[in-house]
Amino acid sequence: MNDAPRPGTDQATSHTGEPAPGVVVAVDGTSGSGKSSTCRAVADRLGLRYLDTGAMYRAVTWWMLQHGVDVHDAEAVAARAADPRLVSGTDPLAPTIVVDDVDVSIEIRSDAVNAAVSPVSAVPAVRERLVALQRSLIGAGRIVVEGRDIASVVWPQAQVKVYLTADPAARAARRAAENGGADVGATEASLLARDAIDSGRAVAPLTRVHGAIHIDSTHQTLEQVVDLVVGLVEESLSAVGGS
Ligand code: C5P
Repeated sequence: MNDAPRPGTDQATSHTGEPAPGVVVAVDGTSGSGKSSTCRAVADRLGLRYLDTGAMYRAVTWWMLQHGVDVHDAEAVAARAADPRLVSGTDPLAPTIVVDDVDVSIEIRSDAVNAAVSPVSAVPAVRERLVALQRSLIGAGRIVVEGRDIASVVWPQAQVKVYLTADPAARAARRAAENGGADVGATEASLLARDAIDSGRAVAPLTRVHGAIHIDSTHQTLEQVVDLVVGLVEESLSAVGGS
């Protein structure tokens, strides 16, 4: 597992230049709300690692599809949940996700994976396995982690908790643009379908925990959201004696 800090960035520093404690920044939120861009930029700016837990669920989904597992059969998915070998790279400038020695960073963004990832993610055996892997990667901290259940399940002790949302139309427009001008209506339908399953599932549904700061990015630029989150991290570091 590649959980080593990037060279030269193994020590996060607060704005005072003091070594930061093992800060963990948990960013949860709806599909397409800008979590990935925000988290990568925050991690890069503060010299922290970055973990995209959605990529892990997507990679398991890709593996299930490759192996002919019926993704709508929860028992069939559970039976194979332990089989994919996953390695997550945590460099915010070049995050990677490798399954059985294949880098699937591109493949996991396909329409087929988009359509299948929420049912696969609702299977408890899949979640148990990935949460354990995520906790071992988060380890001593100095990391920004994005997902749906980071503050509620994976790492409730995170020093900074953010709940990031945006209006569906804004999310669809951004995601479609990222995907080279994909159809906005179809993109919005896909995002909303995932939101519905992610928020309604029995295990670890998407939820805003007490103490999470809600940021609505609908009318904010990426830069503004990044500034806000960096400010929250710096405030938290000061509060624990980083200044
Ligand atoms: O973040 P992203 O949109 O790539 O996540 C893809 C899917 O993975 C989500 O729609 C959700 O079903 C699942 N997921 C999850 N728990 C997480 C992260 C992602 O269930 N912590």
